[in-house]
Amino acid sequence: MTEVLYYLDCYLKEFEATVEKVTDDKYVVLDRTAFYPESGGQPNDTGRLIREEDGVGFEVVYVGKFNGEISHEIAPAGDAPSTSLKPGDRVKGVIDWDRRYRHMRMHTATHVVANVIEKEAGAQITGNQLGLDQSRVDFSLEAFDRDKFAEYEKMANDVIASNHPVNFYLISREEAEEKLSRLTTLAKGFSDEIKEVRLVEIEGITIEACGGTHLKNTGEIRGIKIEKLQNKGKNNRRMYFTLVD
Ligand SMILES: [Zn+2]
Repeated sequence: MTEVLYYLDCYLKEFEATVEKVTDDKYVVLDRTAFYPESGGQPNDTGRLIREEDGVGFEVVYVGKFNGEISHEIAPAGDAPSTSLKPGDRVKGVIDWDRRYRHMRMHTATHVVANVIEKEAGAQITGNQLGLDQSRVDFSLEAFDRDKFAEYEKMANDVIASNHPVNFYLISREEAEEKLSRLTTLAKGFSDEIKEVRLVEIEGITIEACGGTHLKNTGEIRGIKIEKLQNKGKNNRRMYFTLVD
């Protein structure tokens, strides 16, 4: 089972690991990783794996979770011909930080925005998809008062500006299942093999189970802007927002 380094430190940009398995010369499983696999509406990280022995680099073009394993899809970097990675190789992993950090801002912002529309409008969040330029939150809500969303945007920006610390707790799956009946869940990034569940708390605002990557403080989001509201029929609504610097 790969040790998931971003669970306790979302700011880890580089790490060292050992290759455990390579399939078709391009799907690599490591003993530990800080690369976030696509899940819970958050896109995967990209970056590089550099073989310690000869310094040869491989681009990490996709990271996914398959049968509980985090798999890194690699492609040779540059023109230099090289043999692929093999089990036992020591590697340094380097995360493409600009991309990841933007996803962390988007992800943490989604918690804040979702919480505001849950509390203020009584909406129920049904899905979300993060992007680098724009993110989407789906929710169900009967009465859809578009004017109110300008207020919700302001409330979300107040939470952001108030610099609420964001904390993590790892608790057992059993304990979480007991508690979760009382908590809302945004992104269920947990697979069945996971014995521990991570709770994410935005101090004074919300606590939920989430496997995504978060900022240390809401202030780092800087600001959000609601760009579009859509009716998707019956009670299904969709909201798009972007980040403001
Ligand atoms: Zn989260």
